[in-house]
Amino acid sequence: MGINRRGFFKVSGLTALGLAGGGLAKVFGNVDSTHQAADTTSTPAEPKVHDGPLTAKRWAMVIDLRKCGEQHDCNDCTEACHLVHNVPKFDNPKDEIKWIWKEEYHHVFHDQDNPFQQEHLNHLPVLVLCNHCDNPPCVRVCPTGSTFKRDKDGIVMMDWHRCIGCRYCVAACPYGSRSFNWRDPRPFIEEQKLDYPTRTRGVVEKCTFCEERLSRGKMPSCVEACKHGAIKFGDLEDPNSEIRHILEERYTIRRRPGLGTNPEVYYIV
Ligand code: SF4
Repeated sequence: MGINRRGFFKVSGLTALGLAGGGLAKVFGNVDSTHQAADTTSTPAEPKVHDGPLTAKRWAMVIDLRKCGEQHDCNDCTEACHLVHNVPKFDNPKDEIKWIWKEEYHHVFHDQDNPFQQEHLNHLPVLVLCNHCDNPPCVRVCPTGSTFKRDKDGIVMMDWHRCIGCRYCVAACPYGSRSFNWRDPRPFIEEQKLDYPTRTRGVVEKCTFCEERLSRGKMPSCVEACKHGAIKFGDLEDPNSEIRHILEERYTIRRRPGLGTNPEVYYIV
């Protein structure tokens, strides 16, 4: 390639923002639908370690907003995720790096609001993260292949060594699921884990569905940390998986289904 990482970083900053407008329409596909379905999961996720890696044809997540919403001030899942992945804590919100966090319902599902919906929904905290979209616009705009979707299980991955910091993916993601390291994050990691890589200034990062844990036979850290059974994770392609049963039995919604990105994070409301 005729331009090095540092050079590209300098010239590409503003260009990336240009994608946020009409250009985004080109990277979205067709419309998708929500699912109908009935109960869940009353039991919390047990920490399990399998002998070999955990595998699936299509990993997906179901978040029960009722169970999660009942746990006021609980941040077990977000703290566990950020701890094991060396996510830094910055005081200034503009530098913030987030892999999984909470936002109010009416921000997350503003396109599915109606003026007569139950009042409590408006301020219900909703866990948000990368949706590991089946049709990910972030992947399509990445000029280096730094972000890509795995054929074997659908996880949208990041190769931080190949990221040139152009932030096209940040602009293309309609969910704000990606964070950019404006500063060197390493001094701001509270308790560095040596078994997980740290990132550098000028690199984008996001949730990877804990692919490193799956490969060691562990469920994602947020799933394991939730003591209330509010987060389920499994194989969407397996008709006998727990999440398939949940999706068949409970009514679930996804974020901005009209964009055609086909998110693989489902919400029980
Ligand atoms: Fe990409 Fe955003 Fe979809 Fe994640 S949520 S796969 S970052 S478009």
